[in-house]
Amino acid sequence: MTTVLPTPVPPATGAPARELSDRWGRVADDLRISLIDKCNLRCTYCMPAEGMTWLKKDALLTADEAVRIADIGVRVFGVRDVRFTGGEPLVRRDLADIIAGFRSLHPDVPVSLTTNGINLDKRVDELVAAGLTRVNVSLDTVDREVFARVTRRDRLPQVIRGLAAAKAAGLDPVKVNAVLMRGVNDTGAADLLAWCLERGYQLRFIEQMPLDADHNWARRNLVSGAEVRGRLSERFDLTPDPAPRGSAPAQLWEVREKTTAGQDAPVLGKVGVIASVTESFCASCSRTRVTADGRVRSCLFSRQETDLLSVMRSGASDREIAEVWAGAMRLKPRAYGSDGVTLDDPGYVQPERTMSAIGG
Ligand code: SAM
Ligand code: SF4
Repeated sequence: MTTVLPTPVPPATGAPARELSDRWGRVADDLRISLIDKCNLRCTYCMPAEGMTWLKKDALLTADEAVRIADIGVRVFGVRDVRFTGGEPLVRRDLADIIAGFRSLHPDVPVSLTTNGINLDKRVDELVAAGLTRVNVSLDTVDREVFARVTRRDRLPQVIRGLAAAKAAGLDPVKVNAVLMRGVNDTGAADLLAWCLERGYQLRFIEQMPLDADHNWARRNLVSGAEVRGRLSERFDLTPDPAPRGSAPAQLWEVREKTTAGQDAPVLGKVGVIASVTESFCASCSRTRVTADGRVRSCLFSRQETDLLSVMRSGASDREIAEVWAGAMRLKPRAYGSDGVTLDDPGYVQPERTMSAIGG
């Protein structure tokens, strides 16, 4: 069972928290809110083929509650980036209302979306009008048969339409998230990069993390960031992006055509590698997450959650809600699971929730 922590004790000073700081000196200013646990795909690294138990509708954050949490994050804690995710956030019909509601309060704070892209072509104009600033679309392959195998749904053309519509709507950059699996889509990494470069999408490879419903993750099967770079380097020249990385999870590389002239070739674009497992960036993590049922998760891999929604629904003030949130974040583990064990440590226990239920 995932541990739901009791309401943590406020700091000894009694002063209201002004930032989401933890015991290890990190400050979280990057908020991810999951809006729904449901999804219209069944990616093998995330969800089971069938048998998911969905949250009941009244357990989900309402649009107003999602906006209130985002508002508290920005107003009280100085959150600088808000991302809506899921499950599949486009499954929420009120997504544009949520974005618009937040942007009406904080027009200068960027709002982004992580989506599988299905129906994005039909919704993107409405979302941009509501204030959406950036989008990440998950796409692991452009081979239709492989896509159907990975996602258990034959819906590649819809995702491709969604990506094109995002670009046409002026979202910039349009990012593509890809997870590679050995023996499934790993040999297609360079093809996927070429496809994205041609269309002006910024591709980022994410190492597969042990957050799948089927508990099939195994370290020996992991396609590491180093391996991804090796595969891409067979076809392209990669050089580290000169821009500072900051707390960004992706390490960026400039991509050039492989020529004998090497780095003199023009930059075709950038590619990111998010090596969450093999090159962990816990030390600079600035994320705070709220699940679709309103629970704070200080870490993706943690088995501890703090119920913010019940506090909110009990009639708590913004300040009281903020204190509970700040208390949860103070307990953020130093690295990975609550004891800081590594993901390939036999003592590592996978959280009960899958990535789709946590909100990636
Ligand atoms: N449904 C949306 C999507 O797929 O973009 C949003 C939710 S999904 C959980 C967010 C991101 O998590 C996606 O980019 C997906 O590829 C990634 N993801 C899911 N399970 C993962 C895993 N086990 N390891 C690494 N990334 C994962
Ligand atoms: Fe759905 Fe996204 Fe999980 Fe795939 S990764 S099953 S699209 S929530």
